[in-house]
Amino acid sequence: MATAVDTVRARIAAACAAVGRDPDEVTLIAVTKRFPTSDAALLLELGVPDLGESRDQEAKVKAADLPQARWHFVGQLQTNKARSVARYAAAVHSVDRVDVVRALADGARRAQRGPLAVFVQVSLDDDPRRAGVDLDAVAALAGDVAAESALKLHGVMAVAPMDVDPAVAFARLAEASAAVMATHPQAGAISAGMSGDLDAAIAAGATHVRIGTALLGSRGPAVG
Ligand SMILES: *Cc1c(COP(=O)(O)O)cnc(C)c1O
Repeated sequence: MATAVDTVRARIAAACAAVGRDPDEVTLIAVTKRFPTSDAALLLELGVPDLGESRDQEAKVKAADLPQARWHFVGQLQTNKARSVARYAAAVHSVDRVDVVRALADGARRAQRGPLAVFVQVSLDDDPRRAGVDLDAVAALAGDVAAESALKLHGVMAVAPMDVDPAVAFARLAEASAAVMATHPQAGAISAGMSGDLDAAIAAGATHVRIGTALLGSRGPAVG
């Protein structure tokens, strides 16, 4: 795994160099979903303190075992899980509905751990079944997050659609980021880029890349 971490760090450095960015601006989040806690512990030892998970049921167990990690929740979030997620997450990347905003704020107040960082997830295609808020609704939802004192609006997040050139998709996300920053200048974070497209994401300004496969290998199928 040490080699994989080095390889991913080198990819991030090369992608930054190609566009004149400082690699220190990019946070590597290792997505450990469907891998055991022992792998997450190894990543921490290898100097990757930011870990990502996509299901509360799995994440809360790992977070209890490894409270020293910074846990990023990146999966679709239901309101009935929001209170649980607020107990261990440092950041939630997948907020796309106002009822989730309210539930997370409620959870963060109860958890008394200080403001919870939130990314508004943006949909980069026109498929309403997919996660994320449409581009024309991003600014309003960002305002809803910013209005909650228990939350801290951090920026925007997206997953590039399969059938779209990632450079085109991430350019749209950069536009959404600019629209949010017009009203919320502190909310400049951009969570974008996975194993297959981290280079395009960094070229488009990503500050947080979410990497699973390139660090840990291929996952088994999702269960449950
Ligand atoms: C699983 C997942 C990732 C990691 O994807 P890889 O292609 O394995 O790097 C990133 N972001 C989200 C939202 C995920 O669910």
